[in-house]
Amino acid sequence: MSADEKAVYLTFDDGCVPEVTPLVLDILLHYGVRATFFCVGDNLLKYPEVFQRMVNEGHIPGNHTFHHVPGLRVSVDSYIEEVGMTDKQIEKNLSGHLNHHLFRPPYGRFSYKQKRALSRTHKIFLWDVLTHDYNPRYTPDKILSIVKTYTRNGSIIVFHDSIKAKNQMLPALPKVIEYLQQEGYKFKTLN
Ligand SMILES: [Zn+2]
Repeated sequence: MSADEKAVYLTFDDGCVPEVTPLVLDILLHYGVRATFFCVGDNLLKYPEVFQRMVNEGHIPGNHTFHHVPGLRVSVDSYIEEVGMTDKQIEKNLSGHLNHHLFRPPYGRFSYKQKRALSRTHKIFLWDVLTHDYNPRYTPDKILSIVKTYTRNGSIIVFHDSIKAKNQMLPALPKVIEYLQQEGYKFKTLN
């Protein structure tokens, strides 16, 4: 991106689930913001219609393994299989069109061998701003203050469209978007 253009990347992990993701999509639609969703494959199998809506509204899907597995606890082969199963599910729901193979390891951790194997087929994205929205002790104002403190041009901010994060994330999200828009940031999707 050019030096005079300020942009950030909103990302949502662990969806898509019918209890939370549609409410996130409503907020993003309201503000005209596009985001990247690192989805759990098993959710796509169970709730393809939620995934469809996310994609139809211009958001970008990424892969977050099929069962949200911690890489350090499984073999390289099973990890690659988890990712492959999720890609298949994404492609099935997209009718075969997947332009970008994006991957984010659950918990932000995987083994060196897993990383090396996956980087041949996927672009791997971690984050630099962790909102802690899954922590019930984090109020919307606390989450906003984290974003204010750590966001820089090009930051990748992680939220979770999960049931665990719902009560913290949903009230924080509009505040975060409004703050970033006031600061002149554009919202981009990872690719
Ligand atoms: Zn996750």
